[in-house]
Amino acid sequence: MVVVGGGLAGARTAEALRERGFEGDLTILGDETERPYERPPLSKGYLLGTDERDSFVRHAHWADEQEVRLRTGVTVTAIDRASQHVLDAGGGRTDYDHLVLATGSEPNRLDVPGAWLEGVVSLRTLDDSDRLRVLLAASPRVVVVGGGWIGLEVAAAARAAGCEVTVLVRGDAPLHGVLGPELAAMFAALHRENGVDLRVRTQVRALVPGGDGVRVGAVELDDGTLLPADLVVVAVGARPRVALAQAAGLDVGDGVLTDAHLRTSDPRVLAVGDLAAVAHPFLGARVRVEHWDAALHHGETVAATVLGADEPYDRLPYFFTDQFDLGMEYTGWIGPAGYDEVVVRGDLAARELVAFWLRDGRVLAGMNVNVWDVVDDVQALIRSRTRIDPTRLADPTTPLTA
Ligand SMILES: Cc1cc2nc3c(=O)[nH]c(=O)nc-3n(C[C@H](O)[C@H](O)[C@H](O)COP(=O)(O)OP(=O)(O)OC[C@H]3O[C@@H](n4cnc5c(N)ncnc54)[C@H](O)[C@@H]3O)c2cc1C
Repeated sequence: MVVVGGGLAGARTAEALRERGFEGDLTILGDETERPYERPPLSKGYLLGTDERDSFVRHAHWADEQEVRLRTGVTVTAIDRASQHVLDAGGGRTDYDHLVLATGSEPNRLDVPGAWLEGVVSLRTLDDSDRLRVLLAASPRVVVVGGGWIGLEVAAAARAAGCEVTVLVRGDAPLHGVLGPELAAMFAALHRENGVDLRVRTQVRALVPGGDGVRVGAVELDDGTLLPADLVVVAVGARPRVALAQAAGLDVGDGVLTDAHLRTSDPRVLAVGDLAAVAHPFLGARVRVEHWDAALHHGETVAATVLGADEPYDRLPYFFTDQFDLGMEYTGWIGPAGYDEVVVRGDLAARELVAFWLRDGRVLAGMNVNVWDVVDDVQALIRSRTRIDPTRLADPTTPLTA
């Protein structure tokens, strides 16, 4: 077994294989120099200085314990499917019986003049987070471009570090595309109440150098406004790293296309994590999510598939965020047909609630905000596909299980 990519999905694939009794050779080739680690703390606890590195990086003896040949700092450059081996940038060749692609995703860049100035950063790796923490401490004025999850989490960390923070959002509200207007407004209010200058329907025209001509000094908006900035954090989404798979002739769309068993168009090659666009049996659609939970669990399906068990991946998408005093979990999938109703159970103004997105009276997705231990119940509602009376759903005295 050879795994390309030493992130969470790659590491969990190795662990799951061992948990299920796989006794063969197991190699992970990863281009980062760090051992496998989880990324969520990079924009939350670790950036805030409250989480220790050890709490989310696989420990020093992990590879030995798992009997994994973990080769860090190795970039895989090509897959030869006919003779079943991969080549790496150091000239090495590694043969495989099964190959697992776990190359994850990478941040989108801003395509504007000045995007490569010093002081313009993005956040994906542990190194990025280390650097960002130092920069936040030294940057009074921070501009975050993008109002998605990572942008908002960085904004919250920057406020905690005492920075003046502006968040620039292209649409009507941050997270508008994910949550719709009803719940996006809650996140907008949260940030404004915590002193973030949130600007919507705004685009960046250019990043302008400061006096030294090297470091960023300001952000120029499309209406000509110049926002002074000591640091610009670009958080405008990520894209799956499909180049290897594409060059190897595997079927690729938005990610590497897999069946429900995570097999690509070549059954000897599987894909996991952010990279995998999975034919989801319950949702009846191809689903690619950039979420920790998928990276955590895809490996179990890979292990089952490789060891000959029939266990399709049908977990519902799930993710979480922490921003200021708000913690939330979201589960489900709305899909291209959209929703026609939002039901709020709890107190929206106090930001203590469970929100549900429905279509034709059926729950598609749910989000609990500062309310805990309800994800299983929300998922049961989604899986039931039952038409739910919205009045009862909104009534906190009616148990979700009812
Ligand atoms: C800052 C941040 C915060 C996040 N917070 C949350 C959160 O709160 N909740 C949530 O659900 N999700 C969150 N996520 C998303 C979550 O971390 C990802 O979904 C998860 O990391 C995906 O894991 P992965 O292993 O598929 O990919 P990755 O973690 O991207 O790992 C892929 C690895 O493969 C390596 N690689 C790529 N190409 C090659 C190659 N050719 N050769 C060798 N190695 C290669 C990459 O360098 C990388 O190390 C966050 C992500 C980030 C960046």
